[in-house]
Amino acid sequence: MSGIQTTWPPGAECVAKYNFLGTTDQDLPFSKGDVVTIIGVTKDPNWYKAKNTAGREGTIPANYVQKREGVKSGGKLSLMPWFHGKIAREQAERLLIPPEDGLFLVRESTNYPGDYTLCVNCESKVEHYRIIYHDGKLSIDEEEYFDNLMQLVEHYTKDADGLCTRLIKPKLMEGTVAAQDEFSRSGWALNRKELKLLQTIGKGEFGDVLLGDYRGAKVAVKCIKHDATAQAFIAEASVMTQLRHNNLVQLLGVIVEETGSLFIVTEYMAKGSLVDYLRSRGRTVLGGDCLLKFSLDVCEAMEYLEANNFVHRDLAARNVLVSDDNNAKVSDFGLTKEASSTQDTAKLPVKWTSPEALREKKFSTKSDVWSYGILLWEIYSFGRVPYPRIPLKDVVPRVEKGYKMEAPDGCPAVVYDVMKLCWTLDPVVRPCFRVLRDKLQHIRAKELYL
Ligand code: AMP
Repeated sequence: MSGIQTTWPPGAECVAKYNFLGTTDQDLPFSKGDVVTIIGVTKDPNWYKAKNTAGREGTIPANYVQKREGVKSGGKLSLMPWFHGKIAREQAERLLIPPEDGLFLVRESTNYPGDYTLCVNCESKVEHYRIIYHDGKLSIDEEEYFDNLMQLVEHYTKDADGLCTRLIKPKLMEGTVAAQDEFSRSGWALNRKELKLLQTIGKGEFGDVLLGDYRGAKVAVKCIKHDATAQAFIAEASVMTQLRHNNLVQLLGVIVEETGSLFIVTEYMAKGSLVDYLRSRGRTVLGGDCLLKFSLDVCEAMEYLEANNFVHRDLAARNVLVSDDNNAKVSDFGLTKEASSTQDTAKLPVKWTSPEALREKKFSTKSDVWSYGILLWEIYSFGRVPYPRIPLKDVVPRVEKGYKMEAPDGCPAVVYDVMKLCWTLDPVVRPCFRVLRDKLQHIRAKELYL
């Protein structure tokens, strides 16, 4: 029986698997790694009409490209799918059946808490090697030391170096998917050789952001060196594979290195974070049209997230970036989740988070709307910190009683009205982004902000 051939819809993105020179004027030539967008079908199901990033159109052979897909299994992606946590020696042995030379897993040591054990199948027997953790380093033979388990596994994958066999095949923990494999399968893995890292342009909480060059284009690269942190960023990257909007910072791809380093490559936003941009330019440079444009840019991105059932959870001017051509784009999807999930409230930015989210962990598009109101206040106060002169510990009790910030100096009354709507205490009554976008567009069309 033949498989059902699904047709790629217009707008589908594809990554070139091979170079295609084209044979006629109608063809669209491309190089391996290029991204093209499908714009239509042809009479031949093996050929599509497509457009490249420079806007050139032509026909392409379907079997030369791979369709890009959103990575849906974010929570299951693992950098260390062979790590099985705290399991007993006997269970490890059961997991390594049927025997296969070089089949391995790593578990937490039961006899030596804090250490690990590498279990390897060799000539139908399972060998257990103790991995000693000492002074922040890991070692099996106390000759060769590693910073993390991934580096250790990589080393013994290349060479047995005293073990009974080199590590050949990971025994995957049930329910996990190897992150590398999943990003490759879905068309989001980039080639490390084509990425040049240039200077540092920002410091994130967990790693540096560097300016990079990927195949001749400027890109921003979030570099995460620590294996445990990288694991958290895998989730951020997988959220980004599912989203595409002109006002969301676009993911270009991901590089997962064997050693546990992770590179998240996004479009480069030349003018940096919105909060710094507002502070450094100030009201003498930025007019009312510009502030309203930033407000609308962010609102449109949020309307898109709302329509797709994603909740950002950390919307603030520091997480909005400005492009060379002055488009504001929402970034930092670290906390972004599909609407249903819950979240630990300990690390939340109190001044931006809605009362119901702080109180009951109820995150929704409506809690993003609250944060959006704070962001509007930041925009119209040119990057001031919200709730000036109120001690942090007093903010929540006062807000719960209905306190709302005053309008920033010079803020048009119509825009302040929108802020106050965002700070409606009852999330059910609070408007959604679609309604806010209508209001802001009305303000712009009627020039009410002047
Ligand atoms: P983050 O870790 O995302 O909070 O980023 C830290 C800082 O790095 C930001 O405040 C920006 O100054 C810079 N940065 C992050 N992403 C980009 C980007 N795509 N383009 C330019 N600068 C960026």
